[in-house]
Amino acid sequence: MKFQSTRDESAAKFSAAQVIKQGLAADGGLFVPEEIPTLTADEILTLCKADYPTRAAEILGKFLTDYTKEELLADCRAAYADTAFVGGAAPLVSLDGTVYSMELWHGPTAAFKDMALQIMPRLLSRALVKTGEARTALILVATSGDTGKAALEGYKDIERVKIAVFYPENGVSRVQKLQMQTQTGGNVYVCAIDGNFDDAQSGVKKIFSDKEAAAYLNERGVFLSSANSINWGRLAPQIVYYVSAYCDLLNAGRIQMGDKVNVTVPTGNFGNIFAAYLAKLMGLPIDRLICASNQNNILTDFLATGTYDRNRAFHLTMSPSMDILISSNLERLLYLTAGAKRTAAYMRSLAETGAYTVDADVKRAINVSFKGYFADEEKTAATIRETMEKHGYLADTHTAVALSAAGQYIAETGDKTPMIVASTASPYKFAADVYASLYGEHPADALAALDTLAARTATEIPYPLRGIGERTVRFTDTVPASNMWEAVKNYVNK
Ligand SMILES: *Cc1c(COP(=O)(O)O)cnc(C)c1O
Repeated sequence: MKFQSTRDESAAKFSAAQVIKQGLAADGGLFVPEEIPTLTADEILTLCKADYPTRAAEILGKFLTDYTKEELLADCRAAYADTAFVGGAAPLVSLDGTVYSMELWHGPTAAFKDMALQIMPRLLSRALVKTGEARTALILVATSGDTGKAALEGYKDIERVKIAVFYPENGVSRVQKLQMQTQTGGNVYVCAIDGNFDDAQSGVKKIFSDKEAAAYLNERGVFLSSANSINWGRLAPQIVYYVSAYCDLLNAGRIQMGDKVNVTVPTGNFGNIFAAYLAKLMGLPIDRLICASNQNNILTDFLATGTYDRNRAFHLTMSPSMDILISSNLERLLYLTAGAKRTAAYMRSLAETGAYTVDADVKRAINVSFKGYFADEEKTAATIRETMEKHGYLADTHTAVALSAAGQYIAETGDKTPMIVASTASPYKFAADVYASLYGEHPADALAALDTLAARTATEIPYPLRGIGERTVRFTDTVPASNMWEAVKNYVNK
């Protein structure tokens, strides 16, 4: 299996290992497989009998053909071990017999990013060997919270890789800061920036484009790499849980082989929902894909009108991982429906004017599968409350956006098809907002909110967040954004 850019079909094609190491295509496009592999009904039935790591290795093996079955199985067993994903990698919880919550947050940072970031570093480590790379990869990350911690947990103690994470000193929650400051592992570095998230991100981008920095690192046997969500190594593992959920429904006798299911995904960068679409293209019986947005409803508008327009207000919401105006992975859907030439033109228009409008045939093709709905802050809070009242289920703010969208779709269409809703974070990651949504008042203390929420809802704090206030703080550096390169140099020379 070879991979090519979304913007040029005639350009060079690459192996999976090269693509995972490189991240982005040279023309600025994203890597896509040159063909979509198939998943037959017989294969799905065989996967029903397998555990999650085996299901994952089988699906990944269809795309990563330059990795051996043994390598993939060993990596999947290590990534999705019971000790890392307590309670299972992607368990399904039935809310009312039609709507299911697919919980993707049982991993080591209690957020769905773990599903990809537990396996991708292992794939990268092997990619270095497969491509004959002698140097160590240094992963640089600017984070507004969740991705940084998930990347640290994923890359910690992985061979031939180091990771440095920068976060805005006053731009992350107390829980998020503690999660990063107490990070374990011998190859990790965490540093606060005296500035906001944009300062941290600009600083990282500057280091990435600095030729002198590259030369300096090269002399020390190091090269820069990114844990970005547009890397194919992060996307491929996300296909797995849709297949796995279908197997679980079959095993539970809730559906028969071949029955359709619908999927709702709380969407930011469009990676998770695009993975569901790939599962559908492979042959998994998925009918509708519901794209759920918060007040930043640029995708709802795009799916309704065919115009993507980022010239609009940006809203800070209580589902911050979806506060996004550029959904990078949408480019992959455009490629599959419009081809490389038109995708390149749309992306040029986006860069120059902040907007593009797809052709009528492209919009029609997309709307065969995709429909968009959004929930504002009030609706999100109401959904958290109602989900608790009606189903006794505690949903986080992102999951609530998706549950609201799924509900809107079902009310509008009367569609009784089983609906799998991706639940992307533990409610305890956003305990203060979840608490306020349920009880109408903000808890006085962010850390104490976890215990109060657990007591009042009779649910358990997930293991990664338990006793977080008592762990040893290892990283206390704070530097001005202009000194980030100095901090990286110090870390590399340590
Ligand atoms: C990253 C994230 C999302 C958005 O996923 P995309 O793949 O970027 O669309 C939704 N919810 C949570 C909790 C996330 O961390």
